[in-house]
Amino acid sequence: MKMSNVDRAQVRRLFERETERFVRDHPTSAKLFERAKDHLLAGVPMNWMVRWAGPFPIFVREGRRASVTDVDGHTYLDLCLGDTGSMFGHSPTTVVGVAARQLRRGITMMLPSEDSVWVGEELARRFGLPYWQIALSATDANRFAIRLAREVTGRRRILVYNGCYHGTVDEALIDLEDGRVVPRRGNIGPPVDPDVTTRAIEFNDVDALEDALAPRDVACVLAEPAMTNRGIIPPEPGYHDALRESTQRTGTLLILDETHTICCGPAGYTGAHGLRPDIVTLGKPIASGIPASAFGISEEVARRILDKVRAESTDESGIGGTLSGNALAVAAMRATLEQVITQEAFERMMPLAERFEVGVDRLIREKDLPWHVVRLGVRIEYRFQREIPKNGKEADAGKDSELDALIHLYALNRGILLTPFHNMALISPYTTRRDVDRHTRMLRECVEEVLP
Ligand code: PMP
Repeated sequence: MKMSNVDRAQVRRLFERETERFVRDHPTSAKLFERAKDHLLAGVPMNWMVRWAGPFPIFVREGRRASVTDVDGHTYLDLCLGDTGSMFGHSPTTVVGVAARQLRRGITMMLPSEDSVWVGEELARRFGLPYWQIALSATDANRFAIRLAREVTGRRRILVYNGCYHGTVDEALIDLEDGRVVPRRGNIGPPVDPDVTTRAIEFNDVDALEDALAPRDVACVLAEPAMTNRGIIPPEPGYHDALRESTQRTGTLLILDETHTICCGPAGYTGAHGLRPDIVTLGKPIASGIPASAFGISEEVARRILDKVRAESTDESGIGGTLSGNALAVAAMRATLEQVITQEAFERMMPLAERFEVGVDRLIREKDLPWHVVRLGVRIEYRFQREIPKNGKEADAGKDSELDALIHLYALNRGILLTPFHNMALISPYTTRRDVDRHTRMLRECVEEVLP
């Protein structure tokens, strides 16, 4: 059921009108896309770039601070920010300076640098976990964390939530259908039936959690502390206490994936809410978009894994890669943690995120839309259902692909980029009040056009 009081015929008419405008405004991107189709699969370097609004993606010329300019010369207010990869702004000056210097002094030597020592100390201080490893992507960090968990517990299965996303991690690319774990729709070439590797439950359901962990055959729970990939789904009060207690009681490790929830503060949701996971994974913005990720482990996990790490076969452990912890990534990570992902940055961003939320909420109430807006730190999302969902299943019920596509295209045609897979906005340290209000006005204009 479409949960909206909008005029459907009008949504379709507007979509056509906006598509024509998009094509008219982006001749250079159109030409590049045609050319790209000859030698890039689907015309893009990575297939999900076709998920942007419009019949073809806009091709980018440059990104600066909170804006992006395309090859047709349009400059956009960027609320997507590389889907968190550039959440703290495109090419922050200090990181660019440090990275440029490191580019001249050696990019990858397969040797530790002093920066890596600083990064380990700083991550330990922020997240309360003593030992860290550096990898290349959040996907990497999650895969490696799962391996560690399997190794130290001697258990094969992992537990995830329906609707989760943790990167291209086979065990987590699942759907929960009538209680059965099946490969996620669209998943290409799943290596094994995920029912063998994975148990899945709905978020915020303590009874389901208890049942899933009771057989004591689950190595780890891999969780975002608040879900962010099916809209924003906050944990209910007490859920994290129950999760920690029941994982500990059943000898299950708790991995918190902070890749997106770093939007809650300099130490993510974990730091903001005093959580105590066994493993934390991070990625995307931690080196300002230069590929880098990290995972931190507890004293106990470290103790149980260390013998294996010392063994002669560490180079074939299934963890890490030649470029992991390279000098460029680590230098950029240090500069980012030191100068960019800071308490001061959050103090600037937070009031703007609140302003964004209030603006959208006011519009929803004024027009009596059966929608909601929800904020998680400096990440805000609006969805086409009245209540904030409690889990992945409820979130799916609020999906409205038609309206979603129209709003994204409408925004893009008016110089605003929203994240393709969500009606989601990220506030960066460079985003201004004017930017926030510009989005609110755009949304009002769009809503007024689609209401009967
Ligand atoms: N964890 C979470 C929570 C994510 O949302 C994502 C990507 N959206 C990832 C991990 C994977 O990040 P990457 O694609 O950079 O490996």
